[in-house]
Amino acid sequence: MTAVMWFRRDLRLADNPALLDAVAAGDGRVLGVFVVDPLLWERSGDPRRDYLASSLRSLSESMGGRLVVRRGDPATVVPAVADEIGAASVHVSADYGPYGQQRDQEVEASLKCPLMRTGSPYAVAPGRVLNQQGRSYQVFTPYFNAWLAHGWRQPVEAPADVTWVKAASEELLSAEGAGEQAALKHWQAYLDDVAAYDDERDRPDLDSTSRMSIPLKYGEIHPRTMLVDLARNRSAGAEAYRRELGWREFCADLLARHPHAAWKPLRSEFDKMQYDEPGELFDAWCAGRTGFPIVDAGMRQLAETGFMHNRVRMVVASFLVKDLHVHWRFGARWFMRSLRDGDLASNSLNWQWVAGCGADAAPYFRIFNPVSQGQKFDPDGEYVRRWIPELRHLDGKTAHEPWRYGAGAYPAQVVDHGEARAEALRRYAAIR
Ligand code: FAD
Repeated sequence: MTAVMWFRRDLRLADNPALLDAVAAGDGRVLGVFVVDPLLWERSGDPRRDYLASSLRSLSESMGGRLVVRRGDPATVVPAVADEIGAASVHVSADYGPYGQQRDQEVEASLKCPLMRTGSPYAVAPGRVLNQQGRSYQVFTPYFNAWLAHGWRQPVEAPADVTWVKAASEELLSAEGAGEQAALKHWQAYLDDVAAYDDERDRPDLDSTSRMSIPLKYGEIHPRTMLVDLARNRSAGAEAYRRELGWREFCADLLARHPHAAWKPLRSEFDKMQYDEPGELFDAWCAGRTGFPIVDAGMRQLAETGFMHNRVRMVVASFLVKDLHVHWRFGARWFMRSLRDGDLASNSLNWQWVAGCGADAAPYFRIFNPVSQGQKFDPDGEYVRRWIPELRHLDGKTAHEPWRYGAGAYPAQVVDHGEARAEALRRYAAIR
């Protein structure tokens, strides 16, 4: 018998319990398939498509070039592949996203053999962390403590002996750089610096965060592998890093329980919040031309690299919602198109957090001042000069206030922050 391993967000061989199950079910003979789903492909921007292609290429190399890539609706493609080889079973790691769950049900209904779900992209599967009354958490810290107490299984090795079954496949065109081995190497190197994480993580100029969101998004590494390494490192940095992985799981838990949270506010009073249509101001935000240096630097970093530092993500998100009064879902959609690590759960729930309408969210009335945020977290102006060439003539901190020290070719501010803030508070008062 042969089994099918349907790879999705687990593009790795090590610490992949679903793959071990496929090897056992197929008696060592496994067909590994990845389905390029036009629906998801359409929604991803170039940064994600390029990275996915590289990651698939690397996965295929580690399988002796035998990864089978097919394009089409998974509900048609996966049963067809399984039929071609008379598969005993199809194996996946479970998907907890709203689209993924529905897609898997459709595939399951069209298959002639069982669809077996083993593991998930999380240390603790969404929905498993419950309080003493058996209910799930709305607030992060108690969730995090219960998540730690729940614990996770030990990582498992890559299967020793697999015969990868051949089948017709699409050509994979890609650049170098992604993949399981690259992710592990990057993570091991980062562990040497993790001690400094709690001091430096908010500083975009230092750019010293791990950038593991990208391999985590594609499952080139499992968070369990990282958590086991972190447990051996007793620094405050490792502790802080573990908390961030907890946030990733909290977001997934919330989205699994509230699928509408992908695009609608978790707190229903925000349904009535008045927003403006995204027009010229939204375009200026997307293009990094708002006249607020920290906002523009972040948006230009995003456009040029497909990445943005977390602190700056919070600042640009707050600016869109509370200074430009545009609904967070337009910003979230722009992020999903532009980010290489774009992940529906982490993205939507973080946008909701910033917009004040999510679980355990920042209170709406706490509105970031984009100038003082820049001065505080980019104290020498290095980050803004790195991404905004028009500001390179300004020294140190002065780059955060070009209107005072000589803006040159840099755009004027598109709004007055004081007035925009007052307007945001007026709109908030109307829904309370
Ligand atoms: P590090 O600081 O090194 O953090 C380590 C890991 O912890 C990250 O790789 C990530 O997996 C996790 N993590 C850290 N912060 C968060 C957080 N706030 N929420 C959830 N997980 C976190 N992250 C995504 O992976 N995909 C997204 O689409 C995404 N959209 C975001 C949108 C907004 C508006 C905001 C404020 C945050 C968003 N984040 C998203 C969370 C966070 O910004 C990124 O995970 C982080 O910047 C990635 O860089 P890093 O790997 O260097 O982070």
